[in-house]
Amino acid sequence: MENPILYTENLSVGYGADPVLRELCLQAQPGKILTLVGPNGAGKTTLLKTLMHELPPLAGAIWLDGRELERMREREIARLSAAVLTERPEPELMRCFEVVAAGRYPHTGTLGLLSEADKDIVRESMELVGVFELRDRPFTQISDGQRQRLLLARALCQEPKLLLLDEPTSFLDLRHKLDFLSLLRQLARSRGIAVILSLHELDLAQKFSDRLLCLRDGKIDRSGSPEEIFAGDYPERLYGVEQGTYDVRFGSVEPPALGGAPRIFVLGGGGSGIPVYRALHRKGIPFAAGVLPENDMDLPVARALAARVFTDRAFEPVGEAAVAQALAVLSNCEGLILCPERLGSQLAANRALLDYAGEHGLLLDRKGLELP
Ligand code: ADP
Repeated sequence: MENPILYTENLSVGYGADPVLRELCLQAQPGKILTLVGPNGAGKTTLLKTLMHELPPLAGAIWLDGRELERMREREIARLSAAVLTERPEPELMRCFEVVAAGRYPHTGTLGLLSEADKDIVRESMELVGVFELRDRPFTQISDGQRQRLLLARALCQEPKLLLLDEPTSFLDLRHKLDFLSLLRQLARSRGIAVILSLHELDLAQKFSDRLLCLRDGKIDRSGSPEEIFAGDYPERLYGVEQGTYDVRFGSVEPPALGGAPRIFVLGGGGSGIPVYRALHRKGIPFAAGVLPENDMDLPVARALAARVFTDRAFEPVGEAAVAQALAVLSNCEGLILCPERLGSQLAANRALLDYAGEHGLLLDRKGLELP
C-alpha cells in the first residue's frame, strides 16, 4: 500500500472537554475515496472539521503528508488539503471566477496577486468540472449543483493532495449526485488525490467509495471495503433501522412488510410482479407472492413487502410441491393477479394456480383494481 496522505493516531474529536469520537485511527490513500457514514449526530462533521484544522483535536495526532497538522501553518495546510463546504457564506458581489480564483491564494505571494499561470490553473479547474461558462455570473445567482461544482473547482485550484467534503451531495438532485460523485472519483484516480467525504446516501456510499468508515457510539464501529460493510444486515444495524429493510445488493430501502393473512395472490416473475407488490403495499392490502425461483428478479421486493412468499430452487423450473403449498394459501385469498405476459418454462407449474383461480372466479382484473 502507498504511503497515506493523511493518517490519525488515537485521535479524539469534539467540543470542549467531551469527545464526540475517541481513539480514531484512519488513513486516506492517494487516488482513493474514503467515505464517512453513520447516523445523524455520529460525529462525521466534527471529524471532518478537525481534519480541516477548523477544530483542535482533543487528543491524539493528525499527520498530513508526513507532518503533524498542529505544527503546520494555515498556508502550508492549504497547499496540501482543500475543503468543499457548502454552508460557508460568500461575499454577495463576487463573480464565480473570483470565488474559484480564491483557491489559488495559498500559492500566490503575500499580495495575493494572481499570475497568468495562476489564472490558467483557475480556468483549467473550472473547465475540468464544467463551470467555465459561469465565470462572469454572480456567485449568489447559480444553482445548488453549479455551486457545488464551483466549490470543487476552487478546491482543485489549491492543487491539493487531500480533498475533504462534508455531505457534498445533500442538496443535489439524483442526476447531479451521480455526476458529482463520478467526477470526484475520476479526479481522485487521475490526479492521485486522496478524498475523505461524508455521505447520507448509503446506496451512493456503497457504489462510489473505495473504503468506508462507519461511525457510531463515539467510535469507529467498522471500517472496510464496500463489500465488507454491505454484507448481511450491517447497514440496518449501523443506522438502528427497526422498520423496513435495506437490500445490501442493490442499496435499496423498503418499508416493512404488511402482516396478516394474504388477501391477494400475486403470480409474478421476472420483474413483472414488482409494480403490483408496491401498489398493493401502498393500498395496505396484504398479499402472497410466488411461486418464484430463488434467482427471480421479483424476489428481493417480494421478500421485503409480501405477507407470504413461495419460492423454489434457483435456475430450475418451479416444482409441483411448492405450487401445492401456494395453492393452499390461494384457496383462502380473495383473488389472484397474473403479472407476466406468459408463463415461460421456469414458471410453467404455476399454471395450476392460474387454472384454480379461473375455475373459482378468483382471476382479478388489474385495471378494475386500479393496479399497474
Ligand atoms: P454528524 O455530522 O455525524 O451528523 P456532528 O459531527 O454534526 O454529527 O455532531 C456530533 C455531535 O456533536 C452531536 O451530538 C452534536 O450535537 C454535537 N455538536 C455539533 N456541533 C457542536 C458544537 N458546535 N458544540 C457542541 N456540540 C456540537
